Amino acid sequence: MKFISSISTFTVFVTLSLSLIAAENVEPAISEDERKINTWLESQEANMLALLERITNINSGSLNKAGVDELAAIFSAEFRELGFSTSNLPGELIEMPSCPGSDYNIDVADHVLATKTGIGPKFLLIGHLDTVFPPGSPFQEFRREGDVMYGPGVADMHGGLVVMLFALKALQEFGELENKSISILLNSDEEIGSLSSRKYIEEQALGHDWGLVYESSGTNNLTRTRKGLGQARFVVNGIASHAGGAHEQGRSAIKELAYKIVEIENMTDYETGVTVNVGIVNGGEARNTVAPCAEALIDLRYPEPQQGMEARQQFENIADQVYSYPVDSGEITTEHWINLHRPPKIPTTESDYLLEKTRAIGRLLGQELGVTDSGGGTDGSLTQAVGLATLDSLGVAGTGAHSNREEARVSSLVERAQLSAVLIRRLAVE
Ligand SMILES: [Zn+2]
Repeated sequence: MKFISSISTFTVFVTLSLSLIAAENVEPAISEDERKINTWLESQEANMLALLERITNINSGSLNKAGVDELAAIFSAEFRELGFSTSNLPGELIEMPSCPGSDYNIDVADHVLATKTGIGPKFLLIGHLDTVFPPGSPFQEFRREGDVMYGPGVADMHGGLVVMLFALKALQEFGELENKSISILLNSDEEIGSLSSRKYIEEQALGHDWGLVYESSGTNNLTRTRKGLGQARFVVNGIASHAGGAHEQGRSAIKELAYKIVEIENMTDYETGVTVNVGIVNGGEARNTVAPCAEALIDLRYPEPQQGMEARQQFENIADQVYSYPVDSGEITTEHWINLHRPPKIPTTESDYLLEKTRAIGRLLGQELGVTDSGGGTDGSLTQAVGLATLDSLGVAGTGAHSNREEARVSSLVERAQLSAVLIRRLAVE
């Protein structure tokens, strides 16, 4: 006591600061209980692979309601076996403007909510059931070669769902799940921007203390920041006419959309980090008909919330202006739909703490995890934006997402389940 009272305020300050930093980065060694959990998980690799193969071979493209429902049923049953109560959160029909004959409405399947109450901090675990691959895609099957597995969703993020489930199973196996307060939300529409599930995710985020999202950890990296995302649809209506006999009477929707596309693409500014991509264009009826309708689907990425608002305004201005015909006589009109579906993920002290704690546990487990920033959004951006400290890259190590080159490292299934199990049990007693 005498010693402490004699040291200077400055020393106390430095010592406290250092111990705070140390608390953030230095984790106690892996305990005997944790070793048992990790050993049990090592024994589960075949079961993890079997489940992943089963769910990868069920097509669950975002618009394939039957496939997504099948996955929802599989996971709901698993969660019930672990003592969770499960319910379906209703999906909905998202209506979008379209040219006649091209239906862009999205019929979103239901989402799964599993809950159990306990003591200590409340965890919200998030994953998505859907993939970007429709039933018609040639990329449908799970395949394994040595330590690499291939297939739609092995990385993004069926693999992550298996990691999440087995981390919970491991805690259950050793009697450590029962007393924990955990909610799990598996949505069916992440790959199309969580247009239906966003409200549920935000609502759940408000009632929890830690957010854990099981997106892929890429090449062994945890993601710290993410850009915001937006999407827009433009549908331009003109006037059809014979391209030979009455060309001058037509008002080409394709011509007008072409001008708009140039304006939209010009919004890209690599210096500020804003990028815009016209990803899909449809239009016209026949070579010899002046096109009465044309449509475009647009992707937007932005680092700062304000940039998203500005981009929305620019989209609206471009939609309202007529570029292709000198006089705006109402003969060319544009319907538009704009949705800033993911806010930028901006780190907080709590989310940095969660990230560094996870990395420190990773080091104890022999998993060297780096830190990265991403241009791609996740549902973790939604939870973080409403104040829930979230780590959103707890899934398998994998690359090539959204392409037929999608692959993941088999051994990362067990590794990441161990990481999650230790992380949850340590956060639970803080
Ligand atoms: Zn994903």
